[in-house]
Amino acid sequence: MTHDEQLKQYVLPNYGRYDVWPVRGEGSYVWDRDGKKYLDFAGGVAVCPLGHCHPAVTEAITKQASTLIHVSNWYCIDKQAELAQMLVENVVGIPGKCFFCNSGAEANEGLIKLARKYGHYTGGRFEIITFSGSFHGRTFGAMTATAQEKIHGGFGPLVPGFVYVPFNDVEALKKAVNKNTVAILLEPIQGESGVNPATPEFLRAAADLCKTNDLLLLLDEVQCSFGRAGEMAGWRAIIPGNEIVPDAVSWAKAIGSGFPLGSFWVNDRSIKHASAPVETLSALLGPGSHGTTYGGSPLACAVGLATIGTILREDLCANSRKLGAWIAGEAAKWNSPFINTIRQFGLFIGFELNEAAVAAGEECKASGRPASIFVARKLLDAGLMTVPAGPSVVRWLPPLNITQSEAAEALRIMSAVLSALA
Ligand SMILES: *Cc1c(COP(=O)(O)O)cnc(C)c1O
Repeated sequence: MTHDEQLKQYVLPNYGRYDVWPVRGEGSYVWDRDGKKYLDFAGGVAVCPLGHCHPAVTEAITKQASTLIHVSNWYCIDKQAELAQMLVENVVGIPGKCFFCNSGAEANEGLIKLARKYGHYTGGRFEIITFSGSFHGRTFGAMTATAQEKIHGGFGPLVPGFVYVPFNDVEALKKAVNKNTVAILLEPIQGESGVNPATPEFLRAAADLCKTNDLLLLLDEVQCSFGRAGEMAGWRAIIPGNEIVPDAVSWAKAIGSGFPLGSFWVNDRSIKHASAPVETLSALLGPGSHGTTYGGSPLACAVGLATIGTILREDLCANSRKLGAWIAGEAAKWNSPFINTIRQFGLFIGFELNEAAVAAGEECKASGRPASIFVARKLLDAGLMTVPAGPSVVRWLPPLNITQSEAAEALRIMSAVLSALA
């Protein structure tokens, strides 16, 4: 049986996959089974901040895999404690505590459970406000938090207690807060909807509303953190410094370079409420309240330490900011009729296509595909991996350690593909 036959017969058809079979990766490049080479600016959907098979990551995996892989959280795990310190001190920079899981959806489930618990002790509040265009994952809580019809379709009844508000609409957000509201959950820069940032005014308004109404400010940083947007903490790419103080932050994607790892951080701040059994927010999820068997294994945390440690040591945030700005500047010079705008935060780059112009082409029409998927397919054929977002955005999510010549190569490929559309 060929691999193609096995895939068709034995693997669930829930993904619309490209018929490309990558078998090897090194740095910013991937090779498929036919030996074709690709420049990988998809990065496994924002998961490979150091490129493929980075020596620090490979060494951490092999070394830890031959020392201790898993023991469970019945015991104390040295690498978990070290990684928690690194996340608290070098990523968030605000006193707090971390929990470790295996994915972004799970990390967001943790934020949702934290909010429910907080609401339980502060007047029985339970509503969490989320936003149009958001993406929080595929588990029931995270899927319900995701304010997108197409993600919910056919899975009802969903989890009660979520309220959806248009993203970046301060007035609508203010109106949505009521006596049942307990938290606001948002992506500082929405990824899956196409690199859509919260405006500084909106992020500030959300933080202020949380303060005045005793709500938790929950940030989903699964995609935008660890240098992707040019800062270790994604929200600081919107409002620098320490003005915004979240109550909890979720992570996954880049944190483990592709090894399954997720986490969330909870603020150590005090919670003064007569019925709360503990004095700080980070103590709310106490023994027995939450858990996962795999979470924070020695192996996963060793990979997390190698990944985040390398990003910090090599100051890849700086490379992300510098090359991201350079790419956006060069692409703007094309004045392509097929690009409406370029949204760029570090190496988190969304090319908003002119859907009508792309779709007017015979080949796009014949493909029956949305503009974003059509263009991403063309780029793939030309040797550049990217990720479509929605019907009109092509995302670049390259490794944070790319060189200027790799960036220039990607620009050449995209420029040629867009010119050929004309
Ligand atoms: C990818 C993503 C998730 C879901 O992460 P999984 O690991 O797929 O569960 C959640 N939130 C954001 C912002 C994401 O980009």
